[in-house]
Formats: sequence, structure tokens, C-alpha cells
Amino acid sequence: MSNLTSCKACAEQIIFLKTKNNKTIPVNFSSVSSVEKEFAAIGKEFPFVYGRHISHFATCTDSDKFRKSSKSFFPLSTCYFSLTSIN
Ligand SMILES: [Zn+2]
Repeated sequence: MSNLTSCKACAEQIIFLKTKNNKTIPVNFSSVSSVEKEFAAIGKEFPFVYGRHISHFATCTDSDKFRKSSKSFFPLSTCYFSLTSIN
């Protein structure tokens, strides 16, 4: 299963990556390397790299809406959190 999706606000392609603090954040798929794109295609996880990957929070054209209700915009991340807390 892949974490690849698109932003509900601006429709840009995004992927959910884990930071070293174990937080899952939406990242612009365009900032992901070609090797990582292959990982994404087969559902393999790779971590967020600060300074290389671009957080979608920073570039979303509709970020106001985004901040107000990030949970409803990203149901996948909510789901992912509940899955990891079971383990
Ligand atoms: Zn967006």
C-alpha cells in the first residue's frame, strides 16, 4: 500500500513520509527523488529528509484551509496514526 495521494485543497500530488520524530507529514511528490518514487510505487516506506523533501504545509496554495482542518483534509494520516498506535 502506498501513502501517495493528492492534496484535497490544491490537488497537488503528495506523499506521507515519517520524520525522525515519528510524525507523518505530507510532502510534495515533486521533491521526492526518482529512486524514492519507485519505492512509493511498490509501497516501500522511506523517511522525510529535512532540506531535500519539501513539506506540503509550506507550499500548499490553500494552506489557510489546510491549517484549520488538517485532520479532515488528510484522513489517511489519521488512519495511519491509529494503525501505528495499535502496534
Ligand atoms: Zn495543497
